Amino acid sequence: METSKTKGIYLLDSFIKSVSSIVYPHHCAYCGRPLEDGYFCEECYKKLPFIEGNTCSVCGCPVSEGMDVCYECKSSSFYFYKNVSIFMYTSKFSDVVHKFKYHNGRYLAKPFGAFMAERLKKDNISTDFIIPVPLHPRKEEERGYNQSGLLAKYIGRILDISVLNNVLIRDVYTQSQTKLKKESRRENMCGAFSVKNKEVIYGKTILLIDDIFTTGSTMNECSRVLLNNGAGGVYSATLATGR
Ligand SMILES: [Zn+2]
Ligand SMILES: [Zn+2]
Repeated sequence: METSKTKGIYLLDSFIKSVSSIVYPHHCAYCGRPLEDGYFCEECYKKLPFIEGNTCSVCGCPVSEGMDVCYECKSSSFYFYKNVSIFMYTSKFSDVVHKFKYHNGRYLAKPFGAFMAERLKKDNISTDFIIPVPLHPRKEEERGYNQSGLLAKYIGRILDISVLNNVLIRDVYTQSQTKLKKESRRENMCGAFSVKNKEVIYGKTILLIDDIFTTGSTMNECSRVLLNNGAGGVYSATLATGR
């Protein structure tokens, strides 16, 4: 028999459920299937484009067995020691990254950050500080968050490394990188970043965090600016590689 009390409990229960479905991501980020828990369904988890096997010792993209650096890295040099990426930036995965960056998919920073931290641990990359590639303040305000900053937060938590958000600054409101060709991307980055509070990073090793590694021009420019301001060395980690 339904009393007003049980009805009240039922209403409260459905209210909590509807609120929690907004707060918690109960859908697979890959196929949209409803989930009780987690971020990906079992099937999609198996399909995630994890980078496995031999990788380029500079940019972290997959290379054939026996190769040390990829063809692109043979003809370019970077200011950072090496970059580590977790996923291939396939077209399917780019949809998830798009969700993460633009459609309030900030909750994905938690599993993505955990994947990145696990990989950095495995590769024995430990640094004094973590610095996310910053957005221009206007862009961060438009988007509501910096996706790289969120990744950095979780990675820092897991690896117990402090995250510095007040050192590397993006001064120039740059055009979206995706529409630019390789050469213009490089020019586009020049002078985009500066360093504040440089005494903090003097002689320290820094781990830079970003979402996608494509030409490496963003990471390279950030590394150059950090080293110019006294950092001892820079590592780079990105969620996915577009190489
Ligand atoms: Zn799925
Ligand atoms: Zn490479």
